[in-house]
Amino acid sequence: MKLLFDLHSHTVASGHAYGTLKENVEEAAAKGLKILGTSDHAISMPGTTNPIFFTNYRAIPEEIQGVKILKGIEANVMDYQGTIDVEEKIYPALDYVIASLHVPCIKSGSKEENTSALIGAMKNPYLKIIGHPDDNRYPLDYDRLTDAAKEQEVVLELNNSSFGPASGRQNAWENDLVLLEYCKKKEVPIILGSDAHIFCDVGCFEGCLKILEYCDFPKELVVNRKKKGLLKVLNRVPEWLQ
Ligand SMILES: [Zn+2]
Ligand SMILES: [Zn+2]
Repeated sequence: MKLLFDLHSHTVASGHAYGTLKENVEEAAAKGLKILGTSDHAISMPGTTNPIFFTNYRAIPEEIQGVKILKGIEANVMDYQGTIDVEEKIYPALDYVIASLHVPCIKSGSKEENTSALIGAMKNPYLKIIGHPDDNRYPLDYDRLTDAAKEQEVVLELNNSSFGPASGRQNAWENDLVLLEYCKKKEVPIILGSDAHIFCDVGCFEGCLKILEYCDFPKELVVNRKKKGLLKVLNRVPEWLQ
């Protein structure tokens, strides 16, 4: 499966990642990606950057070394109502928003509470991607989650890093199998994300491709296959996509 973009990547600005934007872009180009999204952690992640980092995104050109750059953020879901830690003034600077559950930012609750947290976040009109809903530390009701994703037109992420030994997430393979079955049945689209915390992981989707093949997942539901797939996840459409 040919994949055109990776919208989940981190730079040193996140405080616990090790690549620069330049390195990430070069890696994206080397892997044949046409589009790279940079999505550092929002303010509640310990050690991450400041709001001005995001509001100043205009400093980044639209294209570097033949790779189109999209400017995003990985927000933290902060409570079971789904509040995310992005101030209103930041949204105009962003092309897209990912929201995820992270251990330093929210205590895991019951399956119902964790699911309500993500569903609540989906009501934010800027939020179009739920990051790594695949972790045993945050049990989820995948039936409810996929219903809400379908209704709110939010795309669920299949996160490549979750399968790796460096990830703290637990049982991603088993959880993703359940998630993917529901997505398949209800025709809910997914997005593959590397969640690279170092340049060499940018554009790595091996684990994702393996599980998609394993469960015979319909490729039409993978948004990364077509440029137009971006229309499902971006808040503003760049000229080159129109
Ligand atoms: Zn991180
Ligand atoms: Zn994350």
